[in-house]
Amino acid sequence: RFAKESDRTVAIYNGQLDEMIRTEGDILRRLKDSIRQKSLEVWYQPIMLLEDGRYTAAEALVRLPNGKGGHFSAGQVISLAERNGIVEELGDYVLSQACAFMKAHGERLGLKRIGINLSVQQLLVGASADHLLELIRSSGLDPRRVTLEITESILIQSIDRAAEVLEKLRQAGVHIALDDFGVGYSSLNYLSNLPVDILKIDRSLTQQILTSPKQYALLHSIVEMAAINGLLVVAEGVETQAEQEAIAASGAQYIQGYYYARPMPEAEFDRFIKE
Ligand code: C2E
Ligand code: MG
Ligand code: MG
Ligand code: MG
Repeated sequence: RFAKESDRTVAIYNGQLDEMIRTEGDILRRLKDSIRQKSLEVWYQPIMLLEDGRYTAAEALVRLPNGKGGHFSAGQVISLAERNGIVEELGDYVLSQACAFMKAHGERLGLKRIGINLSVQQLLVGASADHLLELIRSSGLDPRRVTLEITESILIQSIDRAAEVLEKLRQAGVHIALDDFGVGYSSLNYLSNLPVDILKIDRSLTQQILTSPKQYALLHSIVEMAAINGLLVVAEGVETQAEQEAIAASGAQYIQGYYYARPMPEAEFDRFIKE
């Protein structure tokens, strides 16, 4: 009886594994096709300066259509691209699209900066700073209107190499944002030595500040340390007015979240900002 049960478990497990592999293969094929055909979408989420309630920045987020009217999760798409060696190609595509969008519409929409996520491979291969700057400039956009978002784990893994690349980018006027801050590795001690300009508070922290006094205190410490080190703070994942008020009270300068706006395709983003 035991043998039979475990056989069945294995069979079910293999079935699910097959299904997963099929799905991944399908997404990967769609991703490669969409990059080649330039049908991979880039959506934009507004970032608000709390001081005057204006949207002065936006974050570019990749969107791969799933063929059923929706999209695959961006996190899944990025991780798949990383595991299959095409995240640099994907990253170049998103950077070019976002810079072209910013060049064409940024001024009219009152945007000072466009934020673009970088994955670890993009930052740590060959002549990455030169390559990234060349892509930005070839779109005609001033690098001073770009913020590149990187996660903390990249810095921790290879601080020397990363610092060198980031310094080059910053010398050209690019801002560097540390994404998903406030979870995992986050240490306030080393903030003074990092080649970054902006901290983006992860939504898992934002969404706990009203229920956890400890997380509330952590947010305040982060904002305080950021100010001491001349860094700006963006709180991500703001979904309610109460959260927005608590963030404003902490002294953070910017908010990004569903409370005001979700990521949107170009045309919708354009209409939203104009209104
Ligand atoms: P991220 O860079 O931290 O981006 C913010 C994520 O939070 C986005 O998810 C955004 O849609 C979501 N978000 C913003 N406000 C709220 C809110 O109020 N509530 C909730 N529940 N979510 C909110 P998205 O677009 O699914 O992207 C997930 C992650 O995938 C990004 O996290 C980023 O790490 C990665 N990613 C997305 N596009 C790119 C890209 O072009 N290149 C790279 N390397 N990574 C990307
Ligand atoms: Mg980001
Ligand atoms: Mg984030
Ligand atoms: Mg994230």
